[in-house]
Amino acid sequence: MPDDELLQRLRRFHLDEYPQYRERFQALVDDGQHPTTLFIGCSDSRLVPYLLTGAQPGELFLVRNVGAFVPPYDGSHGHHGTAAAIEFAVLSLNVSRIVVCGHSHCGAIKALYGEVSPEAQNLRRWLDLGREAMLPVQPGPEALRRTEQRAVVLQLERLMNYPMVRARVEAGTITLHGWHYVIEEGEVHVFDVRTGGFVAASQASNSGTGPYPPYVEHDGQVLVD
Ligand SMILES: [Zn+2]
Repeated sequence: MPDDELLQRLRRFHLDEYPQYRERFQALVDDGQHPTTLFIGCSDSRLVPYLLTGAQPGELFLVRNVGAFVPPYDGSHGHHGTAAAIEFAVLSLNVSRIVVCGHSHCGAIKALYGEVSPEAQNLRRWLDLGREAMLPVQPGPEALRRTEQRAVVLQLERLMNYPMVRARVEAGTITLHGWHYVIEEGEVHVFDVRTGGFVAASQASNSGTGPYPPYVEHDGQVLVD
């Protein structure tokens, strides 16, 4: 047998893990999926949505990309898997929550302040979706964290430009949740629209609400889409 660890893991899943989920997956096949949450998260391997939320199979409709970015609704940037997933989740799956989840030590946010390889032309263009969150400073740890959080808010504001999202948020049938996961603390910090800041989940009164007016930071700086 070849030394193929992935193959071994696939076999282990089928034999050891799948049996305990058999009934749940069968029900999800018979009844179809009815996830309540669209989770837009960074692709970072340290962000594990199922661990954070305790979600079971069938509960999260996941979209992951570099930076947890939301493309503009205008479609001007070509093919967009993320935009398509948002439309599908809202219009066909009728999700009631949309989470945008960034995180500490995000490589995408750090890359905003650095050089991107000329060969990575798609990455360079994709990062444009975070540039408005940048601060006019040398990127130290604090500035990077603030940029990560500002980027989350920026994506929430861009989500509100999707007509089907805005209509449901205003009707109260969809709530928006801006999260910043601090890897080294194992805690999500939740965007609080009333204070314009991020609050540790252990201190927060809710996991996020909408709608979101232009984001005003404590220093009075306004972030508008
Ligand atoms: Zn990231």
